[in-house]
Amino acid sequence: MNSKEFEKIFLILEKEVKKFKVPVAELVKVQSNSSFHILIATILSARTKDETTAKACEKLFKKIKQAKDFEKYSLKEIEKMSYPVGFYKTKAKHLKQLPAILEKEFNNKIPETLEELIKLPGVGRKTANLVLSVAFNKEGICVDTHVHRITNRLGYVKTKTPFETEMKLREKLPKKLWRKINYVLVAFGQNTCTPLSPKCSKCRIEKQCPKINVKKKR
Ligand code: SF4
Repeated sequence: MNSKEFEKIFLILEKEVKKFKVPVAELVKVQSNSSFHILIATILSARTKDETTAKACEKLFKKIKQAKDFEKYSLKEIEKMSYPVGFYKTKAKHLKQLPAILEKEFNNKIPETLEELIKLPGVGRKTANLVLSVAFNKEGICVDTHVHRITNRLGYVKTKTPFETEMKLREKLPKKLWRKINYVLVAFGQNTCTPLSPKCSKCRIEKQCPKINVKKKR
């Protein structure tokens, strides 16, 4: 599938996902528009369902308005606020370290480049790209498991890891889709093009999809 064809089906998907729930980082943007809160929601959301992340954020954001606020609470208390997101103990540790690093390295501001963001505890490329695009409206391509899986199933990329997918997409994806691709494909991947048993018979783009590596139902 070339970029023109991908762009066409992306337009269909963009309309399609409007009926689904908004992914959590976008939700936080709508609710608070705070780059700090978007960063925290994104850190918490790794390997966690959006609904669980949204609940933890609600709890946490009542007490935490800025990074410094983490200093007022013990690690145990931050763990409690983050529960039950996946790996909440590790994530709580990262959140506890955040104010000191932001103060020392970034003058208490959330950095706005990929290279700087990945220096923060618990922030990998995926989180950094998402924060860039959602919080700062900058060009980032956040490739998570959904983006990696779906772009491969569609035959738009042929890659083995999310990192390879990000690099390929940086080469060929039209710039205007960079910021949208995560939001659209996450919603589509959670609801239709699911990891196991994708709902191909109900999929709006079934005719155009080569279904690469999708196992047929027996
Ligand atoms: S046809 Fe199936 S594999 Fe292709 S995008 Fe739709 S759900 Fe995914």
